[in-house]
Amino acid sequence: MKVVKDFRFLQSEATEWRRYLHKYPELDYRLENTARFVTEKLGSFGINHIETGIADTGIVALIHGEAGKGPTIGLRADMDALPILEESNKPWTSQTPGKMHACGHDGHTAMLLGAAKYLATHRNFRGAVALIFQPAEEGALGGQKMVEEGIMEQFGISQVFGMHNEPGMEIGRFGICKGPFMGALDEFDILVKGRGGHAASPHLNIDPIVIASQIVVGLQTLVSRSTDPLESLVVSVTRLIADGAYNIIPERSEIAGTVRTLVPALRDFAEQQIPACARGIAHGYGADIEFRYRRHDPVTINAAKETDLAITAAIGLVGADAVDTQIKPSMGSEDFAYMAEARPGAYILMGNGATASLHHPAYDFNDEALPYGIGYWVNLVDTILPVAC
Ligand SMILES: [Zn+2]
Ligand SMILES: [Zn+2]
Repeated sequence: MKVVKDFRFLQSEATEWRRYLHKYPELDYRLENTARFVTEKLGSFGINHIETGIADTGIVALIHGEAGKGPTIGLRADMDALPILEESNKPWTSQTPGKMHACGHDGHTAMLLGAAKYLATHRNFRGAVALIFQPAEEGALGGQKMVEEGIMEQFGISQVFGMHNEPGMEIGRFGICKGPFMGALDEFDILVKGRGGHAASPHLNIDPIVIASQIVVGLQTLVSRSTDPLESLVVSVTRLIADGAYNIIPERSEIAGTVRTLVPALRDFAEQQIPACARGIAHGYGADIEFRYRRHDPVTINAAKETDLAITAAIGLVGADAVDTQIKPSMGSEDFAYMAEARPGAYILMGNGATASLHHPAYDFNDEALPYGIGYWVNLVDTILPVAC
């Protein structure tokens, strides 16, 4: 097991990669320049098994160890940026107005490249490492697409690991917990169908604005009155639209919102109870509704054994005092969940220091974190695929 100073020699080069990626951000699946950069670097490290074009611009590269047979483990980094106008005058500020790496995926990519370089020249491990560079993490389900295109089977991956930087957590610290770690993300739409007409004659109309207002209030009781208080569920209405005028009651109104939970069964509850509540209220006023529910990311579940392996790797790097093994789960979602659903896996948070928060225009990945992320990946390989066994 190595400590962080063993990876300092890669820091300046990884910083150059990270800043280059930051300067040229790309969105969702359209990562042509990013994917070309990653592929060229992997090739320059002497890695000759590189598959490109998975989920459009995703890449998987295999590094075989020289210490005999063993399983193949997957290490995953995301590569996409966000549609945000960057507020910074650093020399590596985004050159494309309206796009920026505001979630640190530039850092994630640079750290996995750093680990790739290290592992390609230190092949004293068994089995193989599959480096997974994923497009479209920010809401476009690139992780799901890579799984659907068969990366787990094609590369024989038996376990999979993810990592994200965490603003507000000190550099050199890690945080993880077993079980549900990141929330599921679903979305819903409710169309309230009333009867429009003159605002001076409310008795002749069925007012979809009043009904939508009652529905919004009614939905608040699903969490507070109908679910176990010890189980996490969020139902948030985030859009309410009715296109009337001072003297016109509109025909329809629209409600939209999001459901987040750490309990997979509560997605079924939300999908059944949100329309039941909305329909009951609408029927009470003589109106009807149309309802749509879309499931996105599942709950990210950290498997017990893989979480222990991740903890061992992190403690080896930074010591037990710097690894929080019972960090609180988050209701935010992460499409690594699809990979952790396909194979047992673990997702860890790594300190990014006192930077702006994720998705903020002033956010920047902290280059001081690079050797920690690189070291974590390498230690994970040492932990799971050791020479001696
Ligand atoms: Zn993000
Ligand atoms: Zn992210």
